Amino acid sequence: MEIKKYLLAEATKFETPYYIINGSSKGKTVMITAGVHGKEIASILSAKRLVALLKKNKLRIEFGTLIIVPVVNRKAFKRRIRGIPDLNRTFPRKWKDKARHPLSAALFRLAKKYRPSWYIDLHEANGLSKINPRVLGQTLIAHPKSKAIPAIKRIADHLNRSIVQKSRHFTMRLRTLPAGSGRHAAFHLLKAKAVTVETCWSMPMSTRINFQMKILEKLLAEANLI
Ligand SMILES: [Zn+2]
Repeated sequence: MEIKKYLLAEATKFETPYYIINGSSKGKTVMITAGVHGKEIASILSAKRLVALLKKNKLRIEFGTLIIVPVVNRKAFKRRIRGIPDLNRTFPRKWKDKARHPLSAALFRLAKKYRPSWYIDLHEANGLSKINPRVLGQTLIAHPKSKAIPAIKRIADHLNRSIVQKSRHFTMRLRTLPAGSGRHAAFHLLKAKAVTVETCWSMPMSTRINFQMKILEKLLAEANLI
């Protein structure tokens, strides 16, 4: 296994590190992004923890390639804000469309270069979806026609078996929108198995990170990288 660090949007005020981890054998490519929204802290800390685990060799990528961008919008993360504009509305919506922000442009260029089979975008949201179906906290989101659906259903079921409080159970949400999001672009333009992971803000940080880490591990297993 080999880990290399690079810079996205290098030499601009948006510059942010990303990592490419190659397994020793061939396999699929998985791309993980966090910090598209700067105040969704558990998702960012989870992506950073994943990098740390890989560096310490506590988790190994055996097959294929993993790309991790732990903090897409570092300026927004520093200020603990969602980000202005909302980056997750600035990705290209069609092939001839241009991204409307230097960060989404750089991120989409990276995704286009590596054509990941899986595109996993880590977020956090308000509310518990099990109690209120209109909110996005504790959801795994994919397009209704996504090939990711069987896998994320397995992951939600698996996770829920170990979550004692039913209110905290994960639900799968099938959404065509929003256009301009990373998931929308990865699904429509790159034909990736694009998934958004949302933990609920009102839970303790350690619980949220724990959920994000378990989901990531399961997704890496589903993609046969570990
Ligand atoms: Zn978000």
